[in-house]
Amino acid sequence: MTIEMQSIGILEKAMHKLAEGYTDLPEFQTEYDQQRAEDVLLLAAERMWDNYPYPHPLYAGQMLKPPHPVARMAYMMAMWINPNNHALDGGKASSAMEKEAVAGIAKMFGWQEHLGHLTGGGTLANLEALWIANQVHPGKKIVASQQAHYTHNRICGVLQIPFESVAVDDNARMDVAALEEKLKLGDIGTVVVTLGTTAVGSVDPLPEILALQDKYDFRIHIDSAYGGYYKLVDTLPSNVCDAFALTHRVDSIVIDPHKHGLQPYGCGCVVFKDPEVGRFYKHDSPYTYFSSEELHLGEISLECSRAGASAVALWTTMQMFPLQASGEFANGLVSCRRAAEAFFSRLARDDRFITPLVPDMDIVMWAPKAMSTSEISRLSDQTFHAAEKQHLYLATFSFPSHLIQKAYPEVVVDSEYTTCLRSSLMKPEHLDWLDRIWHILDKVQNEL
Ligand SMILES: *Cc1c(COP(=O)(O)O)cnc(C)c1O
Repeated sequence: MTIEMQSIGILEKAMHKLAEGYTDLPEFQTEYDQQRAEDVLLLAAERMWDNYPYPHPLYAGQMLKPPHPVARMAYMMAMWINPNNHALDGGKASSAMEKEAVAGIAKMFGWQEHLGHLTGGGTLANLEALWIANQVHPGKKIVASQQAHYTHNRICGVLQIPFESVAVDDNARMDVAALEEKLKLGDIGTVVVTLGTTAVGSVDPLPEILALQDKYDFRIHIDSAYGGYYKLVDTLPSNVCDAFALTHRVDSIVIDPHKHGLQPYGCGCVVFKDPEVGRFYKHDSPYTYFSSEELHLGEISLECSRAGASAVALWTTMQMFPLQASGEFANGLVSCRRAAEAFFSRLARDDRFITPLVPDMDIVMWAPKAMSTSEISRLSDQTFHAAEKQHLYLATFSFPSHLIQKAYPEVVVDSEYTTCLRSSLMKPEHLDWLDRIWHILDKVQNEL
């Protein structure tokens, strides 16, 4: 793998531009032992060899997308000032950039007015949304599908909110009839709708869930930590487009710029439709320095210190790639989706494999074909390890066996869950690399 280095030259120019803003201060340099710093840094670089090659297109497993060079550069440049977006006097410029970037995200989902901010990640962002949900409907249940991110259940445990899972249909999407059975009992305050589940990218049927609001009173929170940016793509299956078309009608949305949004880790985002929910955050910490009448991001965030560099990176990326339907960024997502479709159709045509789910997005799940679910699990694990030896990096995950049997009735179910393989095709380059990926997978499968 070649590590991209041209960005270092651009970064240097940005550093000089940054320095220009501070020339009227007396000279001051940070003193440190440069030789020692170099020695330990090279040691760290060597330790990094033990990572899988995440930026490379042959890494086609977990949700790991390399940050765009411009995001990396902006983040590093900001590090020299290291602003803290908790309070305005800790991160004046970067707080303004955060507000602009978050407004751009809210606008993408259809909101001119909103309240929102960046977070350390999707989990924290969901925690805030569920915390607010419980303030609005105190003591009522929160439900999410069986394929929703596992942290919803845990977050509810932390916040001491009753939580229940809703069954999924054959496509791993929330089963609306099962949801309605629960709503009839009258104790549900919020439904978490996942647009792009972490395991398989399935998209819950938002239109049908919204329709249930005619009969029952509940909030809707969208968890689109993974899939949110697909709002900009209109070539997905109609069930997905129909769901994304209605995002403006829900109460809160989570999206992770550090997943599909080209950002380094440490960048989640939560947005609320009703800015009034800001009242629940009210605090008067004696430590928070209020130097301005303007709203501090720390006043509408559960986290205290947050990296201003994350906001600078996101803002800069959004200057280069505005969130426009059919724009350059959206086209990158289209390539990911096309890679997933092409990979899926090769797998589906090949009788060495099973493909229990047609992908809603850009995550493909499959497994080697076998007589029983336990045998499928064993072969999936073997494929994972054998592929790694050939420099193809996949991921495994557990899928409910009954959903495999739905698609393949001849398979004997002898385990509750089945280990399957999974590829998040998050890099636009995956499309061009598909032949090479297939070539390796083909070889690995024949050898097993
Ligand atoms: C990744 C993910 C999360 C958790 O987000 P982190 O950024 O890993 O904390 C929550 N929900 C969904 C659907 C996700 O894909």
